[in-house]
Amino acid sequence: MRLRNDGLKFQGMRRQLVKKVKQLLEEAGLSDEGVLKAMQEVPRHYFFDSTFDMKYAYDNAAFPIGAGQTISQPYTVACQTALMNVKKRDKVLEIGTGSGYQCAILCEMGAKVFSIERQKLLYDTSQKILDHMGYRPRLFYGDGYKGKPAFAPFDKMIVTCGAPYIPDALKEQLKVGGIMVIPVGSGSEQRMLRITRTSETEFEEEDFGVFSFVPMLEDTNR
Ligand code: SAH
Repeated sequence: MRLRNDGLKFQGMRRQLVKKVKQLLEEAGLSDEGVLKAMQEVPRHYFFDSTFDMKYAYDNAAFPIGAGQTISQPYTVACQTALMNVKKRDKVLEIGTGSGYQCAILCEMGAKVFSIERQKLLYDTSQKILDHMGYRPRLFYGDGYKGKPAFAPFDKMIVTCGAPYIPDALKEQLKVGGIMVIPVGSGSEQRMLRITRTSETEFEEEDFGVFSFVPMLEDTNR
């Protein structure tokens, strides 16, 4: 696979996007220099197929990526990442690899990323792109409702699809002191929740408002 070029034009478009995202984070009372730096580094236009008009790759918008799924809006990526407070070498579990963009951002920030995708087509495509970009996350084709017990516990978890409820398996696989960021709600809108595991048995919940995601579905799809 050959990656598209990443010239000054795209870097300039990224700078504009980063400025916009930074402002939106500030308006929400959030900040995370690390995620902004990663967004400046990671070429988002690599995650679209060649039929896509690349002039839109740095709009603050979600776009279709195949299999009826979408690449998340850059602001949403930044917001979820900021809420997780990602540190270098954190073990992060992502549910919903999708295009692989969020995964690349986390890798760029120095996290050890484990990511699960239930759509075979997206699992295959994102695997190739991330590999060619030089990122080395552990990707899995499977059902994120189960988490990844073999690699638990995780410091951080990010769910990038709308979950009807918080799966128990995910709570169990979170470290004490760990953070899970998950959009919860079964309609077209979800509430962005940050769950902090404060002890073996206790979890604290904070609400960061309304977002809109594709649904978290059971099982896998070929
Ligand atoms: N993080 C992605 C967002 C993709 S959209 C990105 O940066 O592009 C959400 C993804 O979650 C979709 O690809 C969808 O197939 C996947 N998904 C939905 N339910 C899932 C489940 N139970 N397990 C794993 N992935 C799931």
